[in-house]
Amino acid sequence: MANFGNGPVMTPPEATCRCVTCGRPIPLDQAPGRPCESCGPVLGTTEVHYDLSRVHPDFGPPGRGLFRFAALLPVPDPGPRLPLLVGDTPLYDAPRLARRLGVAQVLLKDDGRNPSASLKDRASAVAVAHALALSRPVVAAASTGNAASSLALLAASAGLRAVLFVPADAPPPKVAQMMLAGATVVRVRGTYDQAFDVCALACERFGWYSRNTATNPVLAEGKKTVALEIAQACAWDPPDLVAVGVGDGCVFAALYKGFHELRALGLTPRIPRLVGVQAEGCAPLARAFAEGAATATPLREPSTYADSIRVGVPRDQVKALRAARASNGDLIAVPDDRIREAQRLLAREAGVLAEPAGAAGFAGLLHLAASGRLAARDRVAAVVSGHALKDVAGAMSAVPEQPLDIAPDPATIGSVMDAIGSII
Ligand SMILES: *Cc1c(COP(=O)(O)O)cnc(C)c1O
Ligand SMILES: [Zn+2]
Repeated sequence: MANFGNGPVMTPPEATCRCVTCGRPIPLDQAPGRPCESCGPVLGTTEVHYDLSRVHPDFGPPGRGLFRFAALLPVPDPGPRLPLLVGDTPLYDAPRLARRLGVAQVLLKDDGRNPSASLKDRASAVAVAHALALSRPVVAAASTGNAASSLALLAASAGLRAVLFVPADAPPPKVAQMMLAGATVVRVRGTYDQAFDVCALACERFGWYSRNTATNPVLAEGKKTVALEIAQACAWDPPDLVAVGVGDGCVFAALYKGFHELRALGLTPRIPRLVGVQAEGCAPLARAFAEGAATATPLREPSTYADSIRVGVPRDQVKALRAARASNGDLIAVPDDRIREAQRLLAREAGVLAEPAGAAGFAGLLHLAASGRLAARDRVAAVVSGHALKDVAGAMSAVPEQPLDIAPDPATIGSVMDAIGSII
């Protein structure tokens, strides 16, 4: 029976929260939306830590969703849980893609199979459980679209109200999800980066629980479960390299945190090389990493068809740059056409439907293979972070072909056979 927040709040004693830059402790129940005051919003993102010597990593078999990792989550256990199944998405072996890349194995983590069809559900589930534990009735987020549609559904499933701030150009399918779930949607006539600042102010002013990425450290805890699932599905022998699309950098940094904790617990022998993939028209983190800079230079007019990673001010840059360095990984940029190619290949060679940002990780693998940076013995994985139907226009822009249009007339059947004959 779910406890909807009426009982005492018992955050596990092992979970504490600190500023990533100065290490100042910040109480976990005050951390959502509140970066370290001394370090400011960019340098002062906060991070959850556990006393791993007291964690008993008995997660059970896949199937129940991400709360089976409660020993590594900052929510009371037992405590509020959600009725929807989040996480425990499939990890597919894609042998035809492995042959194409010239590697031993390609694994695809299909996170489009979450309730709102993106990886963001992992973060929203933990955030909503946290908000329930703290008895906070209103949750809010700024989002290019997926974080907001995810929060809309998960809040609805738990009886909380959601207020969402999205840029005016958010893809209509994502806005439809939010509206259908009864959320209050605020369209900000500006970029995602501007919507983020408006939402942060509103949370501060009205006391809403903030699900703004990076400034709420429990979100990364939810996102890191994708790493835990990948490692468990590989019998704790993780792939050599894992790639994912990068906007704010939170998912990428969370992958590192998950693999890091597994190694610290002695469950896995090593951390995979982590490759974060940005679009060339919006690559402040790839640039900062290549230049060895400590922070990213903000980009005023980010440009890519991959809306979920169209982020000019990466809010989780400190952790993302650290994740690339510490995993001996990389942050790279690929052209939009490479992402379109990845969208087609994922669907045509593996049957996996990815939105543009969801295909960016695999586009990074294509890029690495083309530049001779993958070895024949490598086992590599791409996180497919969002479903193609999240952005129908984006999907169609990746497809050069048109459907065959015919009249409902036996005489036109011949033209179908002509067309098929020419493509077989
Ligand atoms: C949010 C998102 C990303 C990138 O995550 P960040 O934490 O912003 O780097 C990638 N793909 C999809 C589908 C997303 O929704
Ligand atoms: Zn600090």
